[in-house]
Amino acid sequence: MPRQTTAVSARTVDSGDAAQAHIENSHRLSARIGPFVAVMYAGFALLFTYLEVWPLAAAYFACLLFDLLIYRETRRHPERRNPLLPWLWVVVFAQSLLAVYVLGADAGFQYYLLATIPPSFAQLDRPLPFRLLQAALIIAFFLACDSWFVRYAIPLYPYPEYFLATLRHVNTVGCCAMLAGGAYAQALVIKESGDVLRRVASTDALTGLLNRRRFSEIAEREFARSRRSGHPLTLALGDIDFFKRINDGHGHAAGDHVLQSVANLLQGALRDYDCVARWGGEEFIVLLPDTDVATASVVVERLRETVAGSPWLFEGAQIPVTMTLGIAQFAADENWHTIVARADEALYRGKRSGRNRVEIG
Ligand code: GH3
Ligand code: MG
Ligand code: MG
Repeated sequence: MPRQTTAVSARTVDSGDAAQAHIENSHRLSARIGPFVAVMYAGFALLFTYLEVWPLAAAYFACLLFDLLIYRETRRHPERRNPLLPWLWVVVFAQSLLAVYVLGADAGFQYYLLATIPPSFAQLDRPLPFRLLQAALIIAFFLACDSWFVRYAIPLYPYPEYFLATLRHVNTVGCCAMLAGGAYAQALVIKESGDVLRRVASTDALTGLLNRRRFSEIAEREFARSRRSGHPLTLALGDIDFFKRINDGHGHAAGDHVLQSVANLLQGALRDYDCVARWGGEEFIVLLPDTDVATASVVVERLRETVAGSPWLFEGAQIPVTMTLGIAQFAADENWHTIVARADEALYRGKRSGRNRVEIG
């Protein structure tokens, strides 16, 4: 049985995490891409230095410096990334235009313009008309670079056709690598954001335990497994005693602190393949696979003793905390709702009998 991962249980998650995680993922990915772009710029800078094509050598060294500057800035101050982004477009535009002017359109440096269209559409914080206009401008600029006039204008540094064809092939591969890298980066952002959303949807925000929804899914699966295999399965429902008094006497923050601490205690006291969740308010639910009711009553009694025997202090005040628990073993002919009802019945029998006890349903 999968128990919630430490990452989930160790920290409290809320829905704000998802949006924040998306931004953090984008920053992380641009930080990952930065070095690859720098290598590409450095390669071109060295190539054009070797060929003594000085305007392009200077331009690519400038691009390299700019890329390293952005890389450094976004690593140190992620919030400064957005104001710098428009300059990246300016750099790509200027570099394509200059390369076409110096070497001619046959060298294929204008292809990189097309590779900027997918990331321009990925800017979800911009309105759609803005992104459409941006794409139209990029295409217009590409066509201008690639047009008949530029194609047949005499370049500043005329090179033989075989050399330009080789450069064009290099640029075709470079452009495909940019598109593939961009798609991969986007896929990673989607996956990582999806992971956070799934975690938020299955976790209780206050305690970091599984929530009722996710627990029910796991329990249904475990019930089906137990029915098939014939292995015993036991459920325990626990409720903190006189919790309202804790809230009333020590404040809501003290109540929250107790809920978090009880969650940690329960989780720490159970096996890895047991499953514990916050059922609601001050109620917790535990699923013990491959455990019959006799063994479960020993385990659950230990949980009760751990809660009752822990020193409960909040801002210097001593808070008495105890729990009443009801347990029920799954019978093959019953369903998930009836076993919860039996554990609940046992729990309330325990409440009526004086609390701080374990009852079997
Ligand atoms: P009993 O022993 O019969 O269970 O009594 P009780 O006081 O524990 O039960 P009751 O149902 O009267 O009160 C439960 C209280 O738990 C009421 C509710 O305000 C409080 N509560 C529910 N969720 C939270 C929470 O997330 N944080 C805090 N601080 N209190 C909560
Ligand atoms: Mg209670
Ligand atoms: Mg209750």
